[in-house]
Amino acid sequence: MGYFLLYSSRLCGVGACWRFLANHVGLLSITAVHHVRETLALSTLFLVFSMAMFMPVEWLVRARNGKAAPASDRFHFWFNTIVVAGSALTVMAFIGGAIRASLPEGFRSWMEERPLWEQLILVVALAELWSYWAHRLSHAVPFLWRFHKVHHSIEHMTWISALRQHPLDAIWIMASANIPAFALGVDLRPLAAFIFFERCYTVLLHSNLDFSYGWFDRLFASTRFHHWHHDAGEEGRNRNFAGMFAILDTLFGTYQPTVQPPKAFGPPELAPRSYWKQMVSPFGRDPVNAADSISRVNR
Ligand SMILES: [Zn+2]
Ligand SMILES: [Zn+2]
Repeated sequence: MGYFLLYSSRLCGVGACWRFLANHVGLLSITAVHHVRETLALSTLFLVFSMAMFMPVEWLVRARNGKAAPASDRFHFWFNTIVVAGSALTVMAFIGGAIRASLPEGFRSWMEERPLWEQLILVVALAELWSYWAHRLSHAVPFLWRFHKVHHSIEHMTWISALRQHPLDAIWIMASANIPAFALGVDLRPLAAFIFFERCYTVLLHSNLDFSYGWFDRLFASTRFHHWHHDAGEEGRNRNFAGMFAILDTLFGTYQPTVQPPKAFGPPELAPRSYWKQMVSPFGRDPVNAADSISRVNR
């Protein structure tokens, strides 16, 4: 892939572009299909595994408190898992390959000479760090918040709500985590189990199971750690950004203590309930109708 893009960067002009396309469109589609196939396989496994893991446990908890996710969350879950992740990761592999091709030759060969375990640690550290900052920017930059707000409209924590995300918000966070790996050209296959575990862990963080690791919440995210991120009030919403390694929040001063669970979940302002309104609301001026809206919900 890297060589393929390197070669393409040596060509210039319309004629060369046509020649390049004619020669390599086959290779391009084979590479795309290869990425789609791997991503789809992993995503389907993730869908089935999440359902098998969390549905029975949540059903038991829901039997006690009667809180369920809206039907639109089921659509978010499978659409973001299969369609958005599948297509976005394929495009990101190309973008990452293009970035890799523009890196100095010396750096690329230095990276290739690293032992595999060093490459994998570097890739995981970069992915966690970049996604922490991408998430933090989603709260700080008004344009990004318009999209990320859809995720914060969750009024009852439940596993299937984990992927209530606007596709553009999902792509933004996904890009921050994945493009460094593609750009560094690291083979991610040895990390497949870790990536799978992390995706399932994200689902767990949104489940209705309230648990904390006590002091260790400062290092590793518990469900209560992430539940605070969904606090309807100001206290926790702009804190606890990390997806798994809470130590990033501790280091960057955004850790919210988890002694007690938050009192209420939900959006800071009215948010649309229907799927299609959630899709178009980031583009409108005042799209929310109070009669068809989600507001904060006390626990
Ligand atoms: Zn957030
Ligand atoms: Zn969340």
